[in-house]
Amino acid sequence: MFVLERTYEPAELARHNMHTHSVFSLCAKREMTLEAMIRRAEEEGLRTLAVTDHSDPGDEIDTYANFLTYKERLRRMETPVRVLIGAELSAWGVGKFGEPYEVDKALDFASYSHIHYHLDSWEQPEDRSPRGYARHELAVLNALFETDRADNIAHPFSPTKMHFFNEEEKAATLAAITDNELGDILEKGERAGCSWELHTPTVFRFPAFARRFFWLGREIGVHFCVGTDAHTLAALAPQGLAGRLRETLL
Ligand SMILES: [Zn+2]
Ligand SMILES: [Zn+2]
Repeated sequence: MFVLERTYEPAELARHNMHTHSVFSLCAKREMTLEAMIRRAEEEGLRTLAVTDHSDPGDEIDTYANFLTYKERLRRMETPVRVLIGAELSAWGVGKFGEPYEVDKALDFASYSHIHYHLDSWEQPEDRSPRGYARHELAVLNALFETDRADNIAHPFSPTKMHFFNEEEKAATLAAITDNELGDILEKGERAGCSWELHTPTVFRFPAFARRFFWLGREIGVHFCVGTDAHTLAALAPQGLAGRLRETLL
């Protein structure tokens, strides 16, 4: 289900950070307590803060227990920020999901990664070429959209963590997706009630693809949201983000 209004205005999109990691993600800085994140979001004027800790296959993280813990702590806090306790869930293969359906549905925001290929536990395509990965990514998304699990796709198509590829090959995974394929999957996601993250680390690193993705999505009328993948307080609401997004996308 969509949790934000549809908009293509970078300044509006940047008021909601839909991808952040707290101390429940081992990769996040220890300063990322729920309370400190909310305080910083207030100071920076964020309207929505989605906490999306990792939930990958084979990890030791109890996503549902963590969700209940944060919901309980949230009840004791007062804040004008809309705080969503979600998770960065895993669609780790075609039709393969890391959490039971009931856990997904309990969360405030089910944001799915379809592309953590750097993990040993992730399904890899048989064809390990850039085009092979592109086809596999699309197959994983297609299977995901046959369900109503996903509220959002985290870092869609982002090759940033494909450490087995060099920069040129990473870019090639993006170029390997045709406009037709991209249009079809964007439309299917929209029909499934799923938004698409403008993942700022990927947007700024692969601006040509980001523009193609944004303009095609806009033409189709999909829902976008912004996520900085914050692992530090400084990355929760970076200065000048709306301006940089505007420059890159428009
Ligand atoms: Zn991720
Ligand atoms: Zn993340």
